[in-house]
Amino acid sequence: MTQLLQQQAVLPLLVEVEPRMCGQPVVDLTAGCSFGCIYCPFADRSARRVGTLRPTVRDMPAILRQPAPPTVFFSASSDAFAPQAAPHTHAVLERWLPQGTIVGIVTKGIVPDRTLDLLADYRAQIEGVSVGLSSLDERRNRIVEPGVPPAAERLASISRLAARGLPVVLRMDPLFPDLDDEPAALTALIAEGERCGAWAIVAGYVFAWGRYLRRLRREPLLADACRYMTERAPMAGGIGWGVPLARKLGLYRWLAEVTRAHGLYFQTCGCKDLRLHDNGGLFPTRCCENPFFTRPLPLVTGRSAAMSQSRDRAGGAG
Ligand code: SF4
Repeated sequence: MTQLLQQQAVLPLLVEVEPRMCGQPVVDLTAGCSFGCIYCPFADRSARRVGTLRPTVRDMPAILRQPAPPTVFFSASSDAFAPQAAPHTHAVLERWLPQGTIVGIVTKGIVPDRTLDLLADYRAQIEGVSVGLSSLDERRNRIVEPGVPPAAERLASISRLAARGLPVVLRMDPLFPDLDDEPAALTALIAEGERCGAWAIVAGYVFAWGRYLRRLRREPLLADACRYMTERAPMAGGIGWGVPLARKLGLYRWLAEVTRAHGLYFQTCGCKDLRLHDNGGLFPTRCCENPFFTRPLPLVTGRSAAMSQSRDRAGGAG
């Protein structure tokens, strides 16, 4: 315990510019993440960098003394609503939102009610809340994301965000080839997102490298999927192994069509494969820079256009 407290005292907490998040200012309130997704290199690397063995809260008094940043993205290497992070996330939001900070959030956790109410009080500053859910198969989810709440709870969290008028995204990322990218499964997931009030879908295939790719290959459920990860892709900040570009383009093009048929926006993450940015305008690829579609996008139809107009009337970011 003494050692843990010493670690907390020396772990600085900074707002950093993160290249693989479209160069956005990001903040991680913990080093490491108890959700323990087996495809995630970032939480493990951030914990190793500061020498912790378990998710460790950073120096909260220091961050609360810092000036509020104009914009911030939660989080690059941890989950802002993992149990060890959620109360600290609330404290930081409570501090920064009244000072005008624009906030974007990506989480696989459950946003507590009091934080939902806080976000709703500053709705015009919330660029969006993106809830990660790649599959409705709970056996798959327990193996791949052992600490993350069940799919039904994540969908309920989308409903609660949407009920407060917050821009909410269903983030289907990462998708494992063959395991997660069957059209029927994806269509069912998109329909669930729409039913719960999601405004948009973000999707992206899994990537990995080095020790993290070896970890995926050791998991029997993922062994077949890993056989399709045959191509090195240029990513923001490095190189990663993933499915061939043609498979990515084919799936994302199809998802863009299906998603639009549901009246939702679609986007993928070009930081995870820089070649995707050059897709001839088939779908947007800057889900961090413009994560939640509060700025104009080229692909606007049907219900999406109506939502965009209603946001403009509400004075949201434009
Ligand atoms: S929730 Fe996010 S940060 Fe945490 S382990 Fe999973 S992918 Fe990594």
